[in-house]
Amino acid sequence: MTDSAREELTRLPAADLADLLRSKEVSSVEVTRAHLDRIAAVDGDVHAFLHVSDAALATAAKVDAARIDGADLSPLAGVPVAIKDVLCTTDMPSTAASRILEGWIPPYDATVVRRLRDADLVPLGKTNMDEFAMGSSTEHSAFGVTRNPWDLERIPGGSGGGSAAAVAAFEAPVALGSDTGGSIRQPAAVTGTVGFKPTYGGVSRFGVIALASSLDQVGPVARTVLDAALVHDVIGGHDPHDSTSLPDAWPSFADAARAGRTGETLRGLRVGVIRELDGEGFQAGVRTRFSEALDLLARAGAEIVEVSAPHFEYAIAAYYLILPAEASSNLAKYDSVRFGLRVTPPGGGTVEDVMAATREAGFGDEVKRRIILGTYALSAGYYDAYYGSAQKVRTLIQRDFTAAFEAADVLVSPAAPTTAFRFGEKLDDPLAMYLNDVTTIPANLAGVPGLALPIGLAPEDGLPVGLQLMAPARADARLYTVGAAIEQLLEDVWGGPLLAKAPALPGGMLAAEEGAL
Ligand code: GLN
Repeated sequence: MTDSAREELTRLPAADLADLLRSKEVSSVEVTRAHLDRIAAVDGDVHAFLHVSDAALATAAKVDAARIDGADLSPLAGVPVAIKDVLCTTDMPSTAASRILEGWIPPYDATVVRRLRDADLVPLGKTNMDEFAMGSSTEHSAFGVTRNPWDLERIPGGSGGGSAAAVAAFEAPVALGSDTGGSIRQPAAVTGTVGFKPTYGGVSRFGVIALASSLDQVGPVARTVLDAALVHDVIGGHDPHDSTSLPDAWPSFADAARAGRTGETLRGLRVGVIRELDGEGFQAGVRTRFSEALDLLARAGAEIVEVSAPHFEYAIAAYYLILPAEASSNLAKYDSVRFGLRVTPPGGGTVEDVMAATREAGFGDEVKRRIILGTYALSAGYYDAYYGSAQKVRTLIQRDFTAAFEAADVLVSPAAPTTAFRFGEKLDDPLAMYLNDVTTIPANLAGVPGLALPIGLAPEDGLPVGLQLMAPARADARLYTVGAAIEQLLEDVWGGPLLAKAPALPGGMLAAEEGAL
């Protein structure tokens, strides 16, 4: 296989790679080597990976051998996948990008990782993220930033910037992320990729390094809606190891996505535009692309309705009480005794001294900020005033969703209020950073599914803009169908996928390769 034929493989969606593998036109070793070569070539710039697996080629060879033996393999068998470092893997360090877990190799795989292995996908490595998934830019990683492949001076979103950048830079066809307040969808929005946050309980949290357990949900990152659905089919479904896992039998999400590309999905669909998630604070070019997308939907026969969600205004405030409260208790276990790092103060000291020195050295500023905030919000005198009130707001937001879904089959908003910002722009202003999740946080508070997909480039900076679609809890399949239909409409306009259309961008690594349009 020539170098350019191999490079071509990295451009293909997972579904196309799966077809080539199934028909034995290429081997998993070839596909995997192509991606490892790509990582070697570009990850010095992008830094999407914290760890690249040394077992990938051997895993791929095993899948190839099974295929030659005529084994009945799963649809994505032999396809490489990148895994966010928040997920436990027995063969690779799992650090959640924190010094406190540096080098830690878990004794078990997360259920989602086990399911990837059982379906014969090939793990390429672990991707960078904000420490313990706290952030919107990946600048809070203890191990250095990840760069946005569209413009290397800009953030790839967060917390799952590594997974999104790996997929956008063609280092991996698909990846796993986790989404507590937007960490799959916002990185997808700013890198021109597709990200899906499943219904809470739809995908197992077992073996996910917990941030806020009532909000965390694992999901796929991909370059097409169908690819995201194919991965979701592998990782989703009931898990007895997770007490919040739904017992539901889920439909095939891949079939749902394929259905979206045939027929008249959008005709008569009631699309609810959330009044509170537009307007002030949203970048002009984001609004332009968003309203164009609405026009496109209307022309395809969708009925655009305006809905109001009056309590969304309080979503960020409620989230930044509930999340730190849960995080402070989840992070209490990093006590220098059970996991990773142990720092002994000069001259020794008590157990408490060792614990304090370890947590001081092992946690970054954002993590400390949230532990302090959460501990305060949960303290006896303030529990009702802060945590209790936030939980009430959460209920009101859930009711807003219920009312909105009476009027609309899906809800839409921009997936993020701005395109990718520059490094450092929001680092010293936590509130500005938090506001970047204004569109995504409500879905986590209500447990409903959300899909982010690219809808074009903002005219003022040429950077990707994402659309968010939300559906009622358990209606994940609807999002795949509608998402795939919108994707098709847009590809007809663009003449192909957005990532293949990357224009010349100063400092962007996609530019030189794709050529200016
Ligand atoms: N950016 C949000 C936060 O900092 C979301 C994080 C996430 O979804 N893990 O909490």
